[in-house]
Amino acid sequence: MDDRLFRNAMGKFATGVTVITTNVNGTIHGMTANAFMSVSLNPKLVVISIGEKASMLEHIKQSGTFTVNILSAQQQELSMLFAGQMKEKREVQFSDLQGAPTIEGALAQISCEVASTYVEGDHTLFIGSVKDIQLEDGEPLLFFNGRYGSLAVETTMQA
Ligand code: FAD
Ligand code: NAD
Repeated sequence: MDDRLFRNAMGKFATGVTVITTNVNGTIHGMTANAFMSVSLNPKLVVISIGEKASMLEHIKQSGTFTVNILSAQQQELSMLFAGQMKEKREVQFSDLQGAPTIEGALAQISCEVASTYVEGDHTLFIGSVKDIQLEDGEPLLFFNGRYGSLAVETTMQA
């Protein structure tokens, strides 16, 4: 099957956008990811899927931890930065959730310890045991058909 057909089909599944962060010996790394899912309530588990060519793969293997930062509609530039889609490098100020690196302004910051790892095809699935959560108000950044978007704002027509 053609790769483009597969990607176009997967792109019909509208998702939010996350930046995965991890701290390896004091250096913080980030990567944009939309392959994220809630797995279990009891115990509290989530899953992320990291491509074999992504340097994040080695970083998470080394740290054994990751934080999922669910981006707000105002954070498209951060998504592009951490997907390697910006020409210029930028310095990012990370925040901290009980020692885990987080992105300020993200709607949810979910810090995890790697509970198990599954290599499937050209991606690795990391099951994360959730350790801490911090929430902020706001609207989500969306990804659909290979494009960013945001929720349509409902307007009331006046007669
Ligand atoms: P790098 O190439 O090292 O880093 C990525 C970028 O982040 C670089 O430009 C780097 O400069 C910047 N960066 C990293 N850390 C910092 C820091 N501390 N300060 C400032 N800048 C920093 N790939 C997947 O494997 N799984 C997915 O679920 C997934 N979902 C995606 C969803 C979307 C909407 C998009 C656009 C891309 C997605 N990707 C996904 C692709 C992935 O984001 C890119 O392939 C990414 O470039 C891989 O990054 P890397 O780990 O190789 O890290
Ligand atoms: P796109 O049309 O490539 O992505 C549409 C959908 O296809 C994505 O939401 C994802 O579900 C799937 N997809 C894309 N690349 C994949 C891959 N290598 N492995 C598994 N699933 C994949 O959108 P785009 O704007 O061209 O994406 C920008 C870049 O980010 C591309 O290089 C793309 O490969 C990468 N990306 C990777 C993943 C992933 O690895 N899971 C997810 C999204 C985007």
